[in-house]
Amino acid sequence: MRDFGNKPFWREKPLEAMSSQEWESLCDGCGRCCLNKLEDWDSGEIAWTNVGCQLLDGHACRCRDYENRQATVPDCVALDAAKVRELTWLPPTCAYRLVGEGRDLYWWHHLISGDRETVHEAGISVRDRTVSEVGMELEDYEAYVAAWPGENPMDDAA
Ligand code: SF4
Ligand code: SF4
Repeated sequence: MRDFGNKPFWREKPLEAMSSQEWESLCDGCGRCCLNKLEDWDSGEIAWTNVGCQLLDGHACRCRDYENRQATVPDCVALDAAKVRELTWLPPTCAYRLVGEGRDLYWWHHLISGDRETVHEAGISVRDRTVSEVGMELEDYEAYVAAWPGENPMDDAA
């Protein structure tokens, strides 16, 4: 058996080796991946919007029906290690993406801070910054294109 030592699991284990409990704990609860994106059919370029999925609680930044979400939202992506490495649109602050790229978690992540509020206090989460897709027509989405879900404020701070 491999010895992962005393370092925190995300610094030692590849995504593929994490237990389901470790995997779930890695999500920082930012909610960015629950925002709708627009894709340019010609270039494949992605534009983020601040339009939240119908099941997103825009304050808690949580899925309202996580266990059964795919019954309501069939195209909700269930992340696994392979998908993290394959998807090009995961937000740059996403903990899965960071760890998948061999990077560490930032101070606001609850596994570092010990507090699930710090992701909100740091302005990383979508808290109170979204509108719901419910009742919205596709052609209206362009009015809600937003850059911040695709940005990492720590890149500017570096
Ligand atoms: S973007 Fe990543 S860290 Fe944030 S809620 Fe989605 S899966 Fe979790
Ligand atoms: S179904 Fe839930 S987890 Fe999936 S995108 Fe919507 S709010 Fe997020």
